[in-house]
This record gives sequence, C-alpha cells and structure tokens, in this order.
Amino acid sequence: MITDTHTHLYSSQFDEDRVEMMQRAFDAGISRFFIPAIDSSYTDAMLDLEKNYPENVFLMMGLHPTSVKENVEEELAHVKEMLDKRDFYAIGEIGIDLYWDKSFLKQQQDAFRTQIRWAKEKNLPIIIHCRDAFDEIFEVLETEKDDKLFGIFHCFTGTIEQAKRAISFNMKLGIGGVMTFKNGKIDKFLNEIPIENIVLETDSPYLAPTPFRGKRNESSYITNVIDKLVDVYDLSFEEIAEITTQNSKDIFGI
Ligand SMILES: [Zn+2]
Repeated sequence: MITDTHTHLYSSQFDEDRVEMMQRAFDAGISRFFIPAIDSSYTDAMLDLEKNYPENVFLMMGLHPTSVKENVEEELAHVKEMLDKRDFYAIGEIGIDLYWDKSFLKQQQDAFRTQIRWAKEKNLPIIIHCRDAFDEIFEVLETEKDDKLFGIFHCFTGTIEQAKRAISFNMKLGIGGVMTFKNGKIDKFLNEIPIENIVLETDSPYLAPTPFRGKRNESSYITNVIDKLVDVYDLSFEEIAEITTQNSKDIFGI
C-alpha cells in the first residue's frame, strides 16, 4: 500500500481524464491520497473529489502562502469556518513563499502562525510549504515549538542541516519528484536521515519526477520516487511503501 501525502487531484489539469488518472494510481498500488488546500476557490472541487473517492481521499484545509493577498482576512475566515464545520486530516498547505512575491511577507508570517495555532487547538498536523523562506519558516516554528506542533515539511529541498532542523520541530520530510532530479541535491544526503522521518508525495500536477520532468505529474508517478529511495536506503520497493505509509499514519492518524 502506497500513500501519496500531497496531491492536488482536484486541479483543473485533471478535469479531462481524472477517472483514468486515478485508475492508473490504483493500478500502481496507491490507495491513500492526502489533499492539500490552496484557497477558497478550490473548496468545492475538493469536496467533489471526496464525494467521488470517499475511501481513498483525505482532505486538508488551509490557506496557501501564495494565496495570501489583500483579502487574507476573508480567506482565513473561510478556513476557520470550514474547520469548525467538519473534520479535516491536517491544516495545509501553509507556510511562507518568497519566490513569487515578497510584498506580503508580514501577512504570510501572520497567516502561518494563526493556522499553526488552529492546528494545535484541533490536534491536527500542519503541512508546510516553504519556498526561498527557510529562515522565516524556522523563525515562526521556533516560537511555536511544543508537543502539539507536528506535521510534514512538504517538498523538502533543503540542506542536511535544514533537514535535521525541520525534524527537530517534529516534522517529517515530504519527498517527491525533486529527489529524482539530477540537480536535486537531497539524494546526496538522504541516506543520513532515518527513513522513519520520510513520507512520500507527488505534489501533482506539479514537479513530475524523472523521466516525466516538465510534464504534468500524477500520483502513479510516485513509483519513480520509490525506485530512487530503494537505492538510497537499500530496502525493497515494498518495504519503502510500507514504512512510508506507516509514517503517514503516524502523522494523519488514519
Ligand atoms: Zn502543493
């Protein structure tokens, strides 16, 4: 059993062939899909997806840092309303992204902290999105660190020092397509990180692994990431699938 801990299956990029794409994932052994939120414009599509795959799809709720703009208060109110209305498996994806736009840094930091506190109130994990913002993310985590803080550092692409620091905040590292890139760098040190700290993800439709790099990503391609981890950890494909699924259960409680 394989778990994709981060996949945007509700993306309009799958509207033409979602059923076939899901079938390819099932055929490849992926049966658990954790679905990160972005902002309120995607909520209906996420709920539809859950309706169609109630056994396999597990929804998160949260405001993505690149959607933190002038209407941040309105968007956060939507997140809170949804969290109070029904169950979700995590708060995500949340964090800081300084790659696209630095002008909302203060609002991104505040929204990140607010959502971390909601996660703690509800005993939920957080799913962190970090782009060009390790220092800023760690600064917030440092002040929020306690035994209620836990989650996943999604699409981890840092150094070994940053990996160890993330783990020190009770975070597992989300490993996906970047692991298969020639210049991805994390494959150089990942063997020094115990596999108990790793979960698998695709972030599809983004970040397709080699040999699909640059194309639309989908959950079935997670097997290419597992193949790479087989080399890194000297474990079998099945062992990698089983251990990382167990790690995902430890985080999401299901
Ligand atoms: Zn994502």
